[in-house]
Amino acid sequence: MDASVRKRRRKATAENRNDEIISLTNVSKAYSTGAPALKEVNLHISKGEFVFIVGDSGSGKSTLIKLLMRELTITSGEIKVMGYDLSRIKHRKIPKFRRNIGIVFQDFRLLKDRNVYENVAFAQRIIQKSNKEIRRNVPSILAVVGLAGKYKAKPRQLSGGEQQRVALARALVNEPAILLADEPTGNLDPKNSLEIMRLLEQINENGTTVLVVTHNKEIVNAMQKRVVTLKRGVIVSDEEKGGYIDED
Ligand code: ADP
Ligand code: MG
Repeated sequence: MDASVRKRRRKATAENRNDEIISLTNVSKAYSTGAPALKEVNLHISKGEFVFIVGDSGSGKSTLIKLLMRELTITSGEIKVMGYDLSRIKHRKIPKFRRNIGIVFQDFRLLKDRNVYENVAFAQRIIQKSNKEIRRNVPSILAVVGLAGKYKAKPRQLSGGEQQRVALARALVNEPAILLADEPTGNLDPKNSLEIMRLLEQINENGTTVLVVTHNKEIVNAMQKRVVTLKRGVIVSDEEKGGYIDED
């Protein structure tokens, strides 16, 4: 190998490292009771990746999501997200850090007495966007999730799939670099599940790094993305274009 090739290779490695948006090194997390929820986890995710996190109930998936958004702190190891060392970040900096992250949950968590528009606008008001910006951004993100025509509806007037799309719009309206989804299709039928996953894929194609916790075996196998499998708090496999690994 000549020197220029070696140099190019070194450069590529350095660039890859700079591209890292999430990094966990020997991360363990113990709650006050029971066995540790995560044990010596090493996980590195580059900007723009789409990653499924799978594993049985109790394997530590939600704990991982909560650590990534700094809702919980690790017991040992190192966790970095967008360059923030989450064990050292000052409390007053946490809101600014969280602006980089959008999150959706299985149970949607919409404001029941507010309409679709207000549910999404709320996220913009928290970060003090002007009314002018809100009037521009909210309809535009509602169009992305296919709900432009339903902006006046209340959550109870929507199907589960539609409610999850509102939650997705709310998570995306502040243009986060990372989208975390903890079992986003857990309450949806197969057709709506697939639609939500396609939306997540589209959001990823537009540059957002996406992590999806799911039990949806068919979708994971069909989508051919990176799949990280947790078992009792340990990463037991991490595969590009992976599939859902069955127990036993
Ligand atoms: P998953 O999302 O994969 O179902 P969790 O991350 O919710 O798993 O839980 C991992 C383990 O940590 C489980 O054994 C669970 O009982 C435990 N656990 C989760 N939350 C708490 C908590 N707040 N206090 C004590 N143990 C917890
Ligand atoms: Mg969970």
